[in-house]
Amino acid sequence: MNIQRTFAIIKPDAVKKNAVGDILTMIHGAGFRIIGMRMLEISVEQAEGFYAVHAERPFFNSLCEFMSSGPIVALALEKENAIADWRKLMGATNPANAEAGTIRKKHASSIEHNAVHGSDAEDTAKFELSYFFAGYELF
Ligand code: ATP
Ligand code: MG
Repeated sequence: MNIQRTFAIIKPDAVKKNAVGDILTMIHGAGFRIIGMRMLEISVEQAEGFYAVHAERPFFNSLCEFMSSGPIVALALEKENAIADWRKLMGATNPANAEAGTIRKKHASSIEHNAVHGSDAEDTAKFELSYFFAGYELF
């Protein structure tokens, strides 16, 4: 299996509850290398651009408001099979269905306020990494 990169966000709910350190520890514990990291706030418009694939979903406006409601941590992660392995470590979208040992089981409070984001495929990982990071910012 080749080394792969994926894009992750620690969402505003997890930043607010001081879970950044624990989530970064879980990321390292699972064997990911953090090759890019930035704490920032995004506007509603920037969230809409990031989540454009979800524009027709009923939760789109609420999701974009939530994602711009406070600081987030944008992360570029690298490891073998990073995309699937990061989604596995995140757990199910709805924390009620999240498996034991996952980040969402531990830190998510609802299907919307679910602590972390992860790219779902190679093409979305590429788009999402480039939305938040320039190539020279990745180590
Ligand atoms: P993410 O894309 O954030 O990694 P995901 O791939 O598990 O999560 P998606 O279906 O892509 O889930 O939905 C994107 C995000 O939209 C979810 O993480 C969650 O914050 C929010 N969301 C998804 N479904 C709902 C819903 N039914 N009601 C409210 N918010 C939702
Ligand atoms: Mg998704």
